[in-house]
Amino acid sequence: MEKEPVVNQTPLDRNTAIHEAGHVVAHIRFDLECGYASIIPINETAGFVTIHLHAENKREAEARAVCSCAGYAARIVAGDTEELAAFGCDNDFDSANKLIEDWRLDNLVTFKVKAVDMLRLPENVKAVDLIALHLLKRGRLDTEYMQGLVEVADGESTEADFSGYLAGRGIKPL
Ligand SMILES: [Zn+2]
Repeated sequence: MEKEPVVNQTPLDRNTAIHEAGHVVAHIRFDLECGYASIIPINETAGFVTIHLHAENKREAEARAVCSCAGYAARIVAGDTEELAAFGCDNDFDSANKLIEDWRLDNLVTFKVKAVDMLRLPENVKAVDLIALHLLKRGRLDTEYMQGLVEVADGESTEADFSGYLAGRGIKPL
């Protein structure tokens, strides 16, 4: 059985969950590895998804810059103001700027807009909602679990299929 950490469902946690879910969905859409996602606070960090700064080529660097801005973008799509959405995103924007500098890409605003456009797609809104919901309940999710939720969001599998998958892993449904 996987451990289910107790998570306080304050509005902050929900915002963190939406932010991290945004990073995850962008990575999955670009077929990039993002490891696990967590909203269990550690030291000063409210949530966690690994953002890699290494890219093999310009196309990958651009995708990773979008992924870096996707936490912010998920909050914008969820209806937050620019200021609220950008709160706590300094590291994310630093990561995007590093990629932009290394690969001479367009400016940060371009990637923020690309990330918002991407996460506004209905299937991505659904995927972010689902992942955020599960993050709030479980605190931490691995990639395979989150890919399963994206398949549900895309209509490639059903909630029942997903429950079956969870049962196979010995995880109780939500
Ligand atoms: Zn982030």
